[in-house]
Amino acid sequence: MNSLSGLLPVELVEKLNISPRFRGDQIFQWIHQKGVSEFEEMLNLPASFRERLTGEYSRVSSSTVETVQQDKDGTAKITIKLYDSAIVEAVLLEDESGRKTACVSSQVGCSLGCTFCRTATMGLLRNLSAGEIVEQVLHLKRQFGTIANVVFMGMGEPLLNLDEVSKAIEVLHHPDGHNIGMRKITISTSGIVSGIKRLADEGPHVRLALSLITADQQLREKLMPMAKTTPLDELQSALQYHQKQTGRRITLEYVLFHGINNRQEDLRALQRFIRSLKVLVNIIPWNPVEGLPYTEPQQSEVAAFTRTLEEAGITTSRRFRRGRGVNGACGQLAVPRNQQPQQPGTLGTISP
Ligand code: SF4
Repeated sequence: MNSLSGLLPVELVEKLNISPRFRGDQIFQWIHQKGVSEFEEMLNLPASFRERLTGEYSRVSSSTVETVQQDKDGTAKITIKLYDSAIVEAVLLEDESGRKTACVSSQVGCSLGCTFCRTATMGLLRNLSAGEIVEQVLHLKRQFGTIANVVFMGMGEPLLNLDEVSKAIEVLHHPDGHNIGMRKITISTSGIVSGIKRLADEGPHVRLALSLITADQQLREKLMPMAKTTPLDELQSALQYHQKQTGRRITLEYVLFHGINNRQEDLRALQRFIRSLKVLVNIIPWNPVEGLPYTEPQQSEVAAFTRTLEEAGITTSRRFRRGRGVNGACGQLAVPRNQQPQQPGTLGTISP
């Protein structure tokens, strides 16, 4: 199902068969800049046109917010019901200065089976459309106010749904809408080489983050089964290519477990992996997920590993634990299969 939220002004003109053409700009502004949810609220459109739109589409969004949960640390998680009753989650993070970041999903579930991630326990139901991705930002904006940053770190692997993700970014970047700069948008990938190269060649040139987890090939294969078909040297070359084309620093996300990936050999492997790259290593203490065979690292382990990397000259940052009270922290998103439709909608899936 096509959502109006994923269309640019010119596409709205075509889709709705309207004239004059500036009506497309007006509708786009109402949806994205002003965040209205009803056509009736689009006051500069003729009443008969608003009625027609309401008759044809009923509401602006094709999805609805089911639940809103707020953690005491300020993080909020919303569950969103899509047109086919599939459910995805999106998270709102707020920094000390009040800037808000939307963490959005790109797929319902995920096919890649990372052994430390709750989303992986769902498997993959389907890809999201550009409109369904944009609507996550719209729902968060309506609940919590203007969104400054968007990160594709929710459910799913964004580079396995790159057409729709790119389209969503085009909409979110549009100056008549959310007007979110390319540097304020981050795609986080588990390491889809073809997608990284395509991003480098065709854009959008948003920030790129890689869930590296470890630079030890054997260990990575155990933690992330997709690594079996994506050797680290291929991944390294793809990142080098991306950096050459874009000039952008890449963030390496290093989810840290208790006693698994903080050995001396992990440091050496990481040094080898980044030797020709400009990177920031973001250390993320693993957030517990019931039933998964890992233990969260002690604070002393996190501090010691961070110190080790810094002493080796590696630039690091620490992700503080947020959103755990609502299962909204990194790696904790999932809506179980038994709450999802038996036959999800039609937007196809793509293999790695
Ligand atoms: S970590 Fe990302 S790529 Fe891996 S299973 Fe979870 S959502 Fe998918």
